[in-house]
Amino acid sequence: MSVNYAAGLSPYADKGVCGLPEVFDSPEELKANVETLAQLIKESQCLVVHSGAGISTSTGIPDFRGPKGVWTMEEKGESPHFDTTFEDARPSLTHMALLGLQRAGYLKYLISQNVDGLHVRSGFPRDMLSELHGNMFVEECEKCGRQYVREKVIGVMGLKPTGRYCDVVRSRGLRACRGKLISTILDWEDALPDKDLNKAEDASRRADLALTLGTSLQIKPSGNLPLLTKRKGGKLAIVNLQTTKHHKHAQLLIHSYVDEVMKQLMELLGLDIPKWEGPTVCESANATSESTTDVKPPRPVTAKKKSIKDPIKEERKRDSTALTDDGEVKEEAVLVKREREDSPVEKSEEK
Ligand SMILES: [Zn+2]
Repeated sequence: MSVNYAAGLSPYADKGVCGLPEVFDSPEELKANVETLAQLIKESQCLVVHSGAGISTSTGIPDFRGPKGVWTMEEKGESPHFDTTFEDARPSLTHMALLGLQRAGYLKYLISQNVDGLHVRSGFPRDMLSELHGNMFVEECEKCGRQYVREKVIGVMGLKPTGRYCDVVRSRGLRACRGKLISTILDWEDALPDKDLNKAEDASRRADLALTLGTSLQIKPSGNLPLLTKRKGGKLAIVNLQTTKHHKHAQLLIHSYVDEVMKQLMELLGLDIPKWEGPTVCESANATSESTTDVKPPRPVTAKKKSIKDPIKEERKRDSTALTDDGEVKEEAVLVKREREDSPVEKSEEK
């Protein structure tokens, strides 16, 4: 059975500006722009990245407002195309480069509007990540706040009950919490998760460089967070194919595919892009997140890392696909396959 994710959301008329033309820097412009970006990053003390659906399109998950985006297609009365399922999607070069930037000490915090779960599955430390619109793979106890990262999509959205219950046992001999687990995916009118939003706002104020990747910055409040950095005297660099809502505020505008930008950037910084070895969840970056060296530190030994054991299957399941959200608020549209939802492969943190 599959569920249409977009149809699972309430009708919402104002989906922002969709289908704007894409702009491409010439190879020379791109090279010069990425050099400027590398310089800004080297000079920065606190880099915060904001990611949107544009960083996942190369994984086969459509964005929302691009030429083939979910809402763009909806305006035309057409259906978006998915080349993968959420479960089968592999983190893009950009997802892995962000992990490399974090491990090298450059990236201090990551704020995402994406619900596709790829940052978490790439192994990006969850304590350095705000997922403002939820995560397709995460359900949360409404009683104690414990989150569970699953290996399969939850299949429910709009903060609705998933049918499972919390099994946290607070102390020995006591009964488990048994609170209802709910989806973390927001519907249009839902408030953003407090903890994630507060951490994102703090990071944005602390940042001296905000870098936005693959988001049109149209959705509030997520799209306005980079302006907090600006307001505090920091700089704003935008990487996006389409013109964004905050182009006029940016020191640096790069119009190219994010994967190409990140590839060139990592070369200029002399950093390796970590290889993805299957879905991995890392709860905490621990002390290594404070490092500011160029050198890639060893993987955090003490970080709690659990493998999801969900080897990417060879064959793609075309029937089940989910969508992600983009630089916009709660966008999720997709066909979510509702498979068995048990198997708490992954455990996670409390909120
Ligand atoms: Zn609980």
